[in-house]
Amino acid sequence: MNGGVDQSMKKIDKTKLSIAFTNKELCTRSGTCIGICPTNALSIGKDFYPELDPGKCIECGLCAKTCPGGKVDFSELTQTTFGHNNVAETFDGHVQRIYVGHAGDARIRKGGAGGGVVTALLWDLLKRGVVDGCVVTRMNPERPWHGEAFIARTFEELLASQQSKYIIIPVNAVLQEIRKQKGRFAIAALPCQIHGLRKVQKEKPAFMKRIHAIIGLFCASSLEPYVAAELMQCRNIDPQDIKNFNFRGGEWPGKIRAIMKNGQIRNLHYSNFKDGAINYLTYLYSPFRCQTCVDGVSEFADISVSDAWTRDEAGNYLFQSQSKLLARTDLGVRIMEDAIAAGSLVARDVSDDKNYQTHKLHTKKKGLNAPIRVARLLHQGKAVPIYDRPVPETTKGELRAERLESFIMSLGRRRATRFPLFKFLTSCYGILFVKIRQYIKSRKYRKK
Ligand SMILES: Cc1cc2nc3c(=O)[nH]c(=O)nc-3n(C[C@H](O)[C@H](O)[C@H](O)COP(=O)(O)OP(=O)(O)OC[C@H]3O[C@@H](n4cnc5c(N)ncnc54)[C@H](O)[C@@H]3O)c2cc1C
Repeated sequence: MNGGVDQSMKKIDKTKLSIAFTNKELCTRSGTCIGICPTNALSIGKDFYPELDPGKCIECGLCAKTCPGGKVDFSELTQTTFGHNNVAETFDGHVQRIYVGHAGDARIRKGGAGGGVVTALLWDLLKRGVVDGCVVTRMNPERPWHGEAFIARTFEELLASQQSKYIIIPVNAVLQEIRKQKGRFAIAALPCQIHGLRKVQKEKPAFMKRIHAIIGLFCASSLEPYVAAELMQCRNIDPQDIKNFNFRGGEWPGKIRAIMKNGQIRNLHYSNFKDGAINYLTYLYSPFRCQTCVDGVSEFADISVSDAWTRDEAGNYLFQSQSKLLARTDLGVRIMEDAIAAGSLVARDVSDDKNYQTHKLHTKKKGLNAPIRVARLLHQGKAVPIYDRPVPETTKGELRAERLESFIMSLGRRRATRFPLFKFLTSCYGILFVKIRQYIKSRKYRKK
């Protein structure tokens, strides 16, 4: 109590808060507001949305200004990141150099989702003393069906952070910890998290100087945090019986699997990863905010990393267990060169190689369908994120394709539809669909 007023009942001006408090659907759950709040009035709440302690809130408005949910201003982010406001014209964003490669260290390469290059770059910065810690993620040791962010300071901790966790993790909430500590940090992050970080950079430039580098991941979509528990239910696994959960465990490109407390490994899908499981997941478990996100390539990272899914005419992968890297800023180019010179990274420049263009589907989903969807929903009067970027010119066929994709994603909104659908598609009966898909794809590759 303060002067007879119960602080927990204090009325807060919601326009001073991040979007989660006025329109939850637009919250990216990046954790930026939690990390930056000067009085720690925000914390990670249910389903990883921010939760407010009104008694601590001083209505400074910082969380609203740095929130990446409701508005993403590409010109402003370009200015903050690159020091000019020439907004990139292509889906790939500003790119200085493109590489394909893998970690120099065999353990890092083996543990990676792709070539382990994110971890190789972070380890290179850490071991050379450029940074004191790296902001990374892992599955929560107590609740392995959820993810969490943490600061890695050793080689072993970095190894434990490897692999893609295709679920919502409020990574930027770690800024709360960084504010209490000394030193410089590197961070691995998704596009929405980077939008938040760059907004913080604009508002708090001195603080953000302590974030030395941002390594971005390509991102088609994150997944709702209940996904891992539901996948286990599909296979009658009690989450309490698992020790760990992998989205891409085992041999590249990996399988979604539960590691049981008794040591047994349970694969959660029959089909392969790329042509089956992960595709179904990104349709059925994609949060609304991800469906309306138009940055699939971490445009404002120093370096962006993606899987190198390029295939030859026969449909075989050209770069197994490797990753593609886009060096965007001068700092990004320097980090790449230093890591290659130190042997931390084995990578070749493919800037002029047509095979590097591995992301046709990704470009279609994020570069075309997402902006069409945003424009359509806006026209219908629905709340969507505001972007200062024009919608690409579209054909009638492309408009129809977006509607179909939106319809499929709408099936994921209710458990009653998504659960049986996902269960069937990832069962042995679903393999037929994957085979048909692979056949259609292989015909396309042969035609190229
Ligand atoms: C949600 C999500 C969607 C993705 N979508 C695509 C895609 O559509 N196309 C594509 O080519 N690549 C995508 N990726 C990236 C890809 O899966 C690999 O993560 C990337 O190629 C790096 O592989 P690596 O072997 O170099 O990294 P590793 O050495 O395995 O390191 C992975 C790094 O990513 C970090 N990380 C993992 N999960 C998260 C998370 N949820 N939030 C923040 N950081 C995280 C880890 O902390 C670690 O630092 C996605 C990744 C995620 C997490």
